[in-house]
Amino acid sequence: MTATEDLIASAEAHSAHNYHPLPVVVASAEGAWMTDVEGRRYLDMLAGYSALNFGHGNQRLIEAAKEQLGRVTLTSRAFHHDRFAEFCARLARLCGKEMVLPMNTGAEAVETAVKTARKWGYRVKGVPEGRARIVVAANNFHGRTTTIVSFSTDPEARADYGPYTPGFDIVPFGDLGALRDAVTEDTVAVLIEPIQGEAGVLVPPPGYLQGVRELTRERGVLFVADEIQSGLGRTGRTFACEHEDVVPDVYLLGKALGGGVVPVSAVVADAEVLGVFRPGEHGSTFGGNPLACAVALEVVAMLETGEFQQRATELGEHLHAELGLLAGSGKVVAVRGRGLWAGVDIDPSHGTGREISEKLMERGVLVKDTHGSTIRIAPPLVISKEDLDWGLDQLRSVLG
Ligand SMILES: *Cc1c(COP(=O)(O)O)cnc(C)c1O
Repeated sequence: MTATEDLIASAEAHSAHNYHPLPVVVASAEGAWMTDVEGRRYLDMLAGYSALNFGHGNQRLIEAAKEQLGRVTLTSRAFHHDRFAEFCARLARLCGKEMVLPMNTGAEAVETAVKTARKWGYRVKGVPEGRARIVVAANNFHGRTTTIVSFSTDPEARADYGPYTPGFDIVPFGDLGALRDAVTEDTVAVLIEPIQGEAGVLVPPPGYLQGVRELTRERGVLFVADEIQSGLGRTGRTFACEHEDVVPDVYLLGKALGGGVVPVSAVVADAEVLGVFRPGEHGSTFGGNPLACAVALEVVAMLETGEFQQRATELGEHLHAELGLLAGSGKVVAVRGRGLWAGVDIDPSHGTGREISEKLMERGVLVKDTHGSTIRIAPPLVISKEDLDWGLDQLRSVLG
């Protein structure tokens, strides 16, 4: 048995099989590259589902973490700590909002948004107690808690987890007419991803986000944008909503906010919305801890300059031009996305998404398939143009 086989067999024996990882065992990583236990190198074209926008072992983020590790890592919110105020103020400013509610994982940010919207609905909008409803989109991915899978349309994510949380209405993504029909006097929020990542990097039709903004404003409903995967530079802007000049009422952030170092998520909104919470009504032991704040503050500082957004725009144009050529040659069926983010539908005659991913792995490129014959490409934003081109060469070779 090789070291790889041994470690995979052991992992399978002692961990729940809720994932089906590619057969590679990573031992170290730097920038856009990972090295496995046998010393083989791989180009990371997934970047932890955008949690690694700034690359592996980013010097600034590691330094910020180390510095904080030597001072204080956890206080709980029972006490103040000296990194909290600046993190919240700078993140709020980056978002053009007034307040931040920090949590840890993306799912917790979504749960927090559901609670925020319902409480806002009862206290501010005046919805009768117990009747608040939230409109969501089909094929969404917002996380894995029991409430969140209650409004998933993916049978794999939902089956056997009932009874499900009520209060959600599901409409087709990108369909403004259906959204208009679904909004009632009891609707407190529309919760959508501005680009649906897990569904295959689905970009809504032009004007959709604008339409959602206008409709929610007219009807007195919160527009909650789940930018956990699409936000923080990935699409070439700080937020994917910016591509349509849209500002939602609530941003949900996660993944890249923790710089690939620690889990950090946040709900960001104005005081009219997040001001609904009183002490004791919501919380998290680890949310907003000093280590998380130190790393996330550095992430915010890196995004303030616009350099990563600019990089994602430039490299993204190149990526989409190259993928467009592949589509033109008939080797791929469709390409979608924005910035350094692409969903690529491969002709099923080349194999399933999983098979393509395995072939790419053999050539030293790591990607992740989504449904059917779709793979997604989302390398760290720090990837060099040469490495990106090399990765695309491997994709071309696999497709013959
Ligand atoms: C990953 C993701 C989540 C959930 O985040 P976790 O940290 O895995 O809980 C929610 N929404 C979107 C859009 C995501 O991509």
